[in-house]
Parts: sequence; C-alpha cells; structure tokens
Amino acid sequence: MLPSQKANQQQARLHNLNLVFRMIYESGMTSRIEIARRTHLTRTTVSDMVADLIEGGLVEEVGTSVSSGGKPSILLQLVADARYLIGLNLAQDKFVGAVTNLRGEIKETYEVPSENHDGELAVQRVYELLDRLVHSRWQPLIGIGVGTPGLVNTRQGMVIQAVNLAWKNLPLGKLLSQRYGLPVSVLNDSQAAAIGEFSYSGHRAHRNLIVVNVSQGVGAGILIDGKLFQGDGGGAGEIGHVPVRGNDRLCRCGRVGCLETLASARAIMAQWQAGSVEKLSTLSEVCEQFERGDVKTREAVVQAGQALGEALGALVAAFDIHHILLTGEMTCFGQLWLESIRQAMRRSALEQMTGQVQVELGKFDNDACILGAAAHLLLEDYSLLFSQAK
Ligand SMILES: [Zn+2]
Repeated sequence: MLPSQKANQQQARLHNLNLVFRMIYESGMTSRIEIARRTHLTRTTVSDMVADLIEGGLVEEVGTSVSSGGKPSILLQLVADARYLIGLNLAQDKFVGAVTNLRGEIKETYEVPSENHDGELAVQRVYELLDRLVHSRWQPLIGIGVGTPGLVNTRQGMVIQAVNLAWKNLPLGKLLSQRYGLPVSVLNDSQAAAIGEFSYSGHRAHRNLIVVNVSQGVGAGILIDGKLFQGDGGGAGEIGHVPVRGNDRLCRCGRVGCLETLASARAIMAQWQAGSVEKLSTLSEVCEQFERGDVKTREAVVQAGQALGEALGALVAAFDIHHILLTGEMTCFGQLWLESIRQAMRRSALEQMTGQVQVELGKFDNDACILGAAAHLLLEDYSLLFSQAK
C-alpha cells in the first residue's frame, strides 16, 4: 500500500470513529443497528468501530433494548470516567481549576488566591494550580482547557491581552503544553462559559446560543450551529468595553463609559469599597445585603441589569439568536437582576426580534467556564480520546 493510501485509510477510520462515538455520546444509549441507520455507515464498519471503542474503554455494553417485534439489540453507552479533562477559570477574583470526566462531572476542585498577582507571578500561580490537578488521582488525563479573561488567539494558544492579569502576548498554551506534556486549549472565559452551558445544560438542541458571562468583567460567547463563533480576531462577544449612554465612569481599559464599569461584579463591589459608610469586601456579603432588601444595593443591581440589557439588545439585533443564558458571579442577584435585563433588552431592539428572545439564568454559574474550557478540547473532534491508550 502506498503511504498516501495508508494515510487516507487512517483518516477515514478516524472520521468513522468520531462519527460513531458522537452518536453514542449524544444518544445516551443506542445500539449498533441504530448507529448504522443514522450514520449511513455499513453494519460491519459500525461493529469494527464499536469494538475499537470498547477495547479503548470508552464505550460499554449495557443490556438489551426491548424492541417491538424485531430482534432485541445490545445497548451501548459512554463510559463517563474513561478519561479526564482539566478546566481552569482565571477570570474570578481567584484562580479555580477542576478535573472533570467526559460527562462534565466535576471530580476535584482546587483554587489558589490570585489577588495582587499579575504578569509572571500570575503564571506561577497557574502552575501551582495545575501541578496539583495534573497529579491528582483522576487518570488518564487527555488535556488542559483554560478560560482566561481578555482577548485570546485560541489557534495559537496566545493571550493577546488580559488587562487585569497584566498579560500581553503571553504564549500560555505553549508554556503549559511544554510543562505538562498535554494538549492545551486557551479560550476567553466567556466563550468557555458558553461552551460549558451548551455542552452540559441540555441546550444542545438550540444550535444557536448566546451565553453572557458577568463576573469581574462582562463578555459573551456566541455559538452558531453548535460551533463557537470567535470572529476574525478571536474577540467575538467582547461587549464589556462598548460605551453605555450617560456613563462617565473610568474603565480599567483606559477609556470612559464602558459597560463593565456599570454591569460587572467589580462595578458593584467598587460602590461598596469607595466612600461607603459600610465597607463590604466580598460579593457574597453584598448579595446578603441585597437579599435583606437594602435599597442602595437593589438600585445598583437594577442599574447594572439595565446597562447589560441594552447591550444584549444590540447583540440580538446583530445575530437574531433567540436563546440567551446568563452566567457568572452576578447571577447571585437572581430574578430582580434578570428582569431588569429582560426589560432593557426588549426596549433596545425591534420588538419583532426581541419578542421571541428568551433570557434565562444558566445552570452552572462559575463552573460554566471550567466545564467549557475542558469541553472545548472535544467540542468538534473527539480524536484526543482515540490517540491515547487506556
Ligand atoms: Zn473599558
């Protein structure tokens, strides 16, 4: 056989493995016959691929289906703990990382303080976190996914700029893959959160989805037809620095009036840290104050929600996507915040468009970023699973 023929054959096999595995992954439970019917592969090919997946420990047989009339067929399902992934969230007021299995179940979490750590020191903190996760008892690991604030070139694994970590043109992907010998994916934290919600919160049926992540910053991740849309420069959804009418607050990006200075958890905290009689140092303290009905906090939350809702109106006008989920630290303000966002969103774009838009809270809050950063390693291609022996 010519080398090129062999390469083609290997490629075809990988393609078929991907197809069969995806079918089993997305079905929950299915049979070889059903896979053949839905993929249009021959039964022999399906059986071969399933045999490989079972041998690799990725798939198992679990009883038989009760079919009406026909021969009962053996059911197959994913072995969720066959492989593990690491996901990091560097966008909170601490660095958090976790090991997850193939169904997005978190097995172990670590966090390290990140306050006042930027530049090289912040990189050392990431190593500290990963040193522990990589050597945890959850093995084998197939890769590391990082959700970081800022502008990211995912293809190159490069953080172009993350203002609050003082990172500029940092080849984070390369640094981590060299240190740990694992594949690494680096994503903007909001884009990661979008993948987390899309993959694990039952929203796969909505092939188009916007997930807005509101924590220390504000950003959105946009999924179009089940794929992350990053735009030409990787920054699609970076709405945190669009100006808000009548807002003259100075932003940490150096400009004035940015959405983040009104709508982020950092903005809410800033009101409590500067000039306030009562100084609250964490967002959960502010949330408690809010739940007790404190007027000043409620006003700030409504104002934050309105500013965000207007920005969402612009996103709806640009993409006409009907499903929006909200994640991140600000979700602790619940229904009042959500309703302020909905109302402002409806006011700021054509009613015929916004009338069909559902804005809901996501399922995972801060875990969405971790789960999505990890899931991104397998989002469009499961090959990483097949290249490692169990
Ligand atoms: Zn700004």
